[in-house]
Amino acid sequence: MNDPTFITDRMLGKLTTWLRIFGYDVVYIGDLKIEGDEDTYLLNNYKDRILLTKDRELHRRAMKEGRKSILIKSNDVAEQLMELKDLVEFQPAMDRCSVCNTLLRKPNEHEIKDFLEREGIKEDLAEKYELWYCERCKKLYWMGGHWKNMIKFLERLKE
Ligand SMILES: [Zn+2]
Repeated sequence: MNDPTFITDRMLGKLTTWLRIFGYDVVYIGDLKIEGDEDTYLLNNYKDRILLTKDRELHRRAMKEGRKSILIKSNDVAEQLMELKDLVEFQPAMDRCSVCNTLLRKPNEHEIKDFLEREGIKEDLAEKYELWYCERCKKLYWMGGHWKNMIKFLERLKE
């Protein structure tokens, strides 16, 4: 089975980030520069993606048009993830930027140096961790403290 792809409404920024951490391809409406009505845009674009929305009316319109749509009920991101548990696997994958959805690649030395300088990080990350890079955000990813907290959060979720 191919992984599902998604488009999310403006209310679902945190959920978007998590789905990208799991490696899912998610277009977030807040990342796009939409002129005019966002609901209309969501209904008329990216039709091959599953629409995730908090908006009951938008969900109803999408279903009426035969669109795949899921109405997210909770306001809490952990509960929102549980609402999708039959569809997505809660397994972090270091392959997609959680900020912008771009696929990650290995950084070169220049990119590592540039990032560390910009962020004021003194630690030699390349020495300690395997690194991944988002070309678009010019951002490095590694499995550090933040990653460990994420794993803990997910383990609680699976209990
Ligand atoms: Zn990025």
